[in-house]
Amino acid sequence: METELTRIFDALPVIAWIALPDGHADFINRCWCDLAGRGTEEISGQGWMALVHPDDLPAMLASWHAMVASGKPGELRVRMRHGDGNHHWHLFRVGPLKNASGHVTRWYGMDTGTGGRQQPAESSPASELDALLTIDAMPLPVAITAPSGEVRRVNRHALHYFGRSFEQLKRSKASEVVHPEDLPYIISAQSKAYETGSTYNVQSRHRRSDGVYRWFNVVGMPLRDAQGHISCWMHLLIDIDDQRRPEEALRTTERKLRSIIHTIPALVWSARIDGSVEFFNQHYLDYVGLSAEQVADWGWKAAVHPDDLDGLADSWQLIMASQAPGETEARLRRFDGEYRWFLFRVNPLRNEAGHIIKWYGISIDIDDRKRTEEQLRRSEAFLAEGQRISMTGSFSWCLDDNEVMLSDELYRIFGFDHDTTVTLDRIAGRIHPDDATLHADKKSDAREVGSDHDYEIRLRMPDGSVKHVHVVSHCAQGRDGQREYIGAIQDVTQRRASEETLGALRSELARMAKINSLGALTASIAHEVNQPLSGVITNASTCLRMLAADPPNIEGAIETARRAIRDGHRASDVITRVRALFSRKSSNTERVNLNDATKEVIALSQSTLKASRVTLKTDFCQDIPPVTGDRVQLQQVILNLLLNASEAMNGVDDRPREILVRTEVDEDARVRLTVQDSGVGFESEGLGKMFETFYTTKSSGMGIGLSISQSIIERHQGTLRAQANNGPGATFWFAIPRAGSDMRTTTSDSDATAPLLRAARVAGSL
Ligand code: ADP
Repeated sequence: METELTRIFDALPVIAWIALPDGHADFINRCWCDLAGRGTEEISGQGWMALVHPDDLPAMLASWHAMVASGKPGELRVRMRHGDGNHHWHLFRVGPLKNASGHVTRWYGMDTGTGGRQQPAESSPASELDALLTIDAMPLPVAITAPSGEVRRVNRHALHYFGRSFEQLKRSKASEVVHPEDLPYIISAQSKAYETGSTYNVQSRHRRSDGVYRWFNVVGMPLRDAQGHISCWMHLLIDIDDQRRPEEALRTTERKLRSIIHTIPALVWSARIDGSVEFFNQHYLDYVGLSAEQVADWGWKAAVHPDDLDGLADSWQLIMASQAPGETEARLRRFDGEYRWFLFRVNPLRNEAGHIIKWYGISIDIDDRKRTEEQLRRSEAFLAEGQRISMTGSFSWCLDDNEVMLSDELYRIFGFDHDTTVTLDRIAGRIHPDDATLHADKKSDAREVGSDHDYEIRLRMPDGSVKHVHVVSHCAQGRDGQREYIGAIQDVTQRRASEETLGALRSELARMAKINSLGALTASIAHEVNQPLSGVITNASTCLRMLAADPPNIEGAIETARRAIRDGHRASDVITRVRALFSRKSSNTERVNLNDATKEVIALSQSTLKASRVTLKTDFCQDIPPVTGDRVQLQQVILNLLLNASEAMNGVDDRPREILVRTEVDEDARVRLTVQDSGVGFESEGLGKMFETFYTTKSSGMGIGLSISQSIIERHQGTLRAQANNGPGATFWFAIPRAGSDMRTTTSDSDATAPLLRAARVAGSL
């Protein structure tokens, strides 16, 4: 209603207002708005009531509505709240504007005496009658109750708001019209007021006819009779719902936020800019088992492990100085006394000017993670230590992308720097040139076949030294289907060196033993032959002496010549027996499975073959028939052939050192064993002499192995042969008849040849 009048009213330096005939405030001038520090909308309607001092409101409303009811001018004395929050006394003069027919069309009010904090002269209290007459005209719910609290009257506005008749309202329970949550509060305020006779003022929610609860400022005041006794109570319900809602919403949000912070399963806290803690959530307090008072400011330190306190305090100071988010770790004591590791993470909160006004922190339990990390670290340390002590490193090689990973120990074995990226080429560069073919073969085998590997190879280190390593690996399928070789490599250089020393010692020992045994054999023969020979010499000398006597003793000479002949025969017998030794039949005859006998020999000679880096392959006939013979002697032959084959490859470095052992049944139905090597082989003239006793082409050879072997095989009615291969190397084989149904029995040696036979066996077995 922008009229000339309102513009004038706005310009007035005092509070002025215009109300409708029913008392509803229609226009509030600028001076009032400025004084109250509120907008026009907030004060218009019934909003101004919130500015009136609650103690003055009932009386003022009573006077005002009495005025409206009578249509006569009057005065209103009230304390109004100003923008500074204080109440100031005002005296309003109010007058009606009537139309031609005498009806009031507007009310005008103006402040005629702002009295500051001082109360103007006491106005006479409104009488009960006045009040009763005027409450119906009031534009807000009003109830009159007896001093006991029993409802006497309610105005029309109240009936309309609650949607009930007066009788219904009287019968209604308080809980039907008041919000259950507010009921205890309002009841206690009223009972206290009834008891003391003083005004009460509460905020509560009341149920509208449509079921909606609205917030009201309920003001109750006693009305007294002429004697000053309370005759009744007037209860005014001033609707403040529109103001309360946003506040309520804010409070609800805050409440929710608080309950979230308290129930969040983490330890949450906030600190002031000086670092002292201002807030801990419930979870934190429950965890450390301390009260909010106990942990306030710096009290929280009590829950930190004494050993971690200084570190935590230092880190906290550093984070604050950096003015940036940060984190640190420390142990916190749980309510039950157990310390657990926590990660403290903190973020600053800044104001609009960018200054830090608070710190917000969260403490996360990382104890289990720490424990796992520690266990992992320890098991890694164990593994590394185990690898170092056993000089074994592990590796993985992905066949698809050729990515190679080595353990620390393997870096050491290969002599790679830790920051080197290891590639297949780098590894190949470390392989000894003589083993390059073996390495290449194993690599292509891995790619094409994917079989498990177990072999030894040499490395040549940058300083020229040679290392022997033992490689064991297995092809596995990775998670994403990639083929990967996982394996271990052991540095066996020291072991190899000791084995070589041991091997050299062993062969030296064998040579000495051979010589000794041969010596023993020779001594035995000499001893056996010497006796009859000296008999021959003695007898022959005696015979000569007898013939040279005068007269010659013919009879004696004949006798001594006979003795000489007898001794000569005796010597000849010894020689025959020694020869018979080499052509003697098997002494321990049994059924022998040549496959099994050969496997035992291979097992025995494995370490010798390995030391010579010889690869042995076998091709056994599965259903080989048994042979009859001396198992030990046959094994001596096999061992001799195997060692000869290995020795024939000693100088071979340009090709694999390979031996193939095969068993089969030959065209004559005999059982045949073949030993084929890739060694130096022999010339055709060698073939003729090889089986002769004492023929050898080796510096430390004895030249009796093949001759003894041949005599053993012949004794088994078999044949031993040699032939040069088409390619490099030689092939030796023997064939003996398969066992018949008859088993030959053991032939016992004569007592006289027993020592000779024993010596010959020892010599032959070496
Ligand atoms: P030794 O081994 O002590 O020399 P042997 O009687 O076992 O005595 O062998 C005699 C010779 O036969 C050897 O010195 C060697 O010249 C030759 N010989 C034996 N086996 C082989 C072989 N596999 N390849 C080439 N030559 C061989």
